[in-house]
Amino acid sequence: MGHDLSQDAEIWDDAYKLNRAHVFHSWHAQRNLDPTEVVTGHGVWLKYGDGREMLDFTSQQVNVNIGYQHPKVIEGIKKQAELLCTVGPDYANLARGRAASLVARRAPEGFDKVFFTNAGADANENAMRAARLFTGRDKILSSYRCYHGNTGAAISATGDWRRKPNDYSRGHVHFFPPYLYRSEFSATTQEEECERALAHLEHVIQFEGPDTIAAVLLESVPGTAGIIIPPKDYFKGVREITKKYSILMITDEVMAGFGRTGFWFALDDYDYTPDIISFAKGCNSGYVPAGGVIMSDPVAHRFDDIVFPGGLTYSGHPLAMGAIVATQEAMEEEHIVDNAYTIGKDVLGPQLTALYDKHPKIGEVRGKGVFWAVEMVADRTTKEPLDDATMKQIVAEGDKRGLILGVHNNRIHVTPPCVISADEATQGVEILDQMLTAAGC
Ligand code: PLP
Repeated sequence: MGHDLSQDAEIWDDAYKLNRAHVFHSWHAQRNLDPTEVVTGHGVWLKYGDGREMLDFTSQQVNVNIGYQHPKVIEGIKKQAELLCTVGPDYANLARGRAASLVARRAPEGFDKVFFTNAGADANENAMRAARLFTGRDKILSSYRCYHGNTGAAISATGDWRRKPNDYSRGHVHFFPPYLYRSEFSATTQEEECERALAHLEHVIQFEGPDTIAAVLLESVPGTAGIIIPPKDYFKGVREITKKYSILMITDEVMAGFGRTGFWFALDDYDYTPDIISFAKGCNSGYVPAGGVIMSDPVAHRFDDIVFPGGLTYSGHPLAMGAIVATQEAMEEEHIVDNAYTIGKDVLGPQLTALYDKHPKIGEVRGKGVFWAVEMVADRTTKEPLDDATMKQIVAEGDKRGLILGVHNNRIHVTPPCVISADEATQGVEILDQMLTAAGC
């Protein structure tokens, strides 16, 4: 028996009640959830159900890079919807081809092919799949303090031929990435941290057995884990080590890509070329779900004559592709990536650093573009993380003052849409200043 539909009719006008009755929310125990109703948005502003206009310093899941309700993206989706709403992945389709070429041209030279997915997690799944099949090896090395997505065991549960080419020993091995503020290597400078983190990675590779390792997978800027900007030479060093052992390198640009760091891809600020790049979020700011894998030519050509055993019903979905095309074009026309760079350099960087000088419970400020972390501590000397209750209080102070802020453990993440103006960024930092004062920080 289904549920009583008349009950829906009675509460049809009440978003909150309907959501609480029927929506099972992600990453939460359900009982005490209290989701805020969002009605619409514009640029960096969101309108809540109670009528308040809120300044969004989160970009939701750090994905709405182009801001809310961008007219060119809405128009792109509408046009594609009128032409063709859906078509299977096997067909050639203009929006799909254009989206692939616009995405690929942001990657380093020699990356010409894009495999589209629905989001970031399945982008990484397919990046790892390609690396395993390319090398004939199983293990994937990735770092502690990273996030690559929330998919699991679907292909292992599969009961036909598609499971077999994907039936790996699933060796996932972790190592420590550089993070000078809480160095695992007792380093005191970025150079030392970089050198020691690289030596550590090479030891892990040697002990695991280089000929068992398919790829090293790294976020170009670990995002959810703390917006930890890697030292300048880190990726170059990882590239040298991976080449030495014939291991592929996968760069996860899901969160850091498409303008977030003030570069089209965060890897553009480093001197190296990986073998595979995964992307999602900012490619079309989540207006229609999409992600994908950009393959370097050798990886792509490996599958010229052998089957790539990966696929999705909605790979290259026309509406998602229409949204990618319109987003990419609008970002270029409106210099949105340059804007993110300038906001980071001239506004968020200096203003957040000034907050560090004023508030003793800020342990570190780090970031670039519109991708910043303010790490809160109980004590600057011990670096003991600030307690959860105070972190919650900070968020509540923001809500009262009209600012939406992302908080992860003891860190405040400042990640507004890339379209934010200098005035809006300043307004947000001023509110953050008041919030920290009100919370006794
Ligand atoms: N990779 C990174 C770096 C991410 O930040 C995320 C999501 O936050 C993912 C992958 C997973 O993306 P999705 O949630 O779109 O599957």
